[in-house]
Amino acid sequence: MAQALEPLQQLALACAECRRCGLASTRAQVVVSRGNPRARLMVIGEGPGAQEDEQGLPFVGRSGQLLDRLMASAGIDSNRDAYICNIVKCRPPGNRKPTAAEQAACRPWLEQQIALVDPPLILLAGATAVQGLLGVKGGITGLRGQWRPWQGRWLMPILHPSYLLRNPSERPGSPKALTQADLQQVQARLAQLAAPL
Ligand code: SF4
Repeated sequence: MAQALEPLQQLALACAECRRCGLASTRAQVVVSRGNPRARLMVIGEGPGAQEDEQGLPFVGRSGQLLDRLMASAGIDSNRDAYICNIVKCRPPGNRKPTAAEQAACRPWLEQQIALVDPPLILLAGATAVQGLLGVKGGITGLRGQWRPWQGRWLMPILHPSYLLRNPSERPGSPKALTQADLQQVQARLAQLAAPL
């Protein structure tokens, strides 16, 4: 896996120059990834927001901070145990959903990230990430929490943390409680992968 580091650095440099879609003209900077390129877990979100665009790192705004806390409560350190990126690497103006054309233009970067990091587990945060990677449309509430096989890996859709910010209840059955249960499933599978054979 160490050999992946140099290609990932090259990918980040190439992304920084990318102008394949119109989002290049409004971004402050390209947001490629954060976390551990050797992690067994990849988290894929929709696209950068204002904080991410400013800092050049994914999931660092309020949503990202909430995701970090939820992962930590399940025993997953987002920077040590995960590699985090997005479907599109540049911020859509006004935080709108990236268009199908923008997602398609950015797809080769994501495919390279997946190939280089080679994670056995992938979390898809929110409906746009599910649609962007799998082409599956549908309510995220019906998809979340279920493992799906994909190209020799296991994917799990989860609710987007921005939705959880708008629904802060932690009562049993609430979106936040369901996400905590989903992340505990992820931690259990990470522990299985780490266990000696
Ligand atoms: S969103 Fe992706 S394809 Fe579009 S300019 Fe940014 S890096 Fe390139």
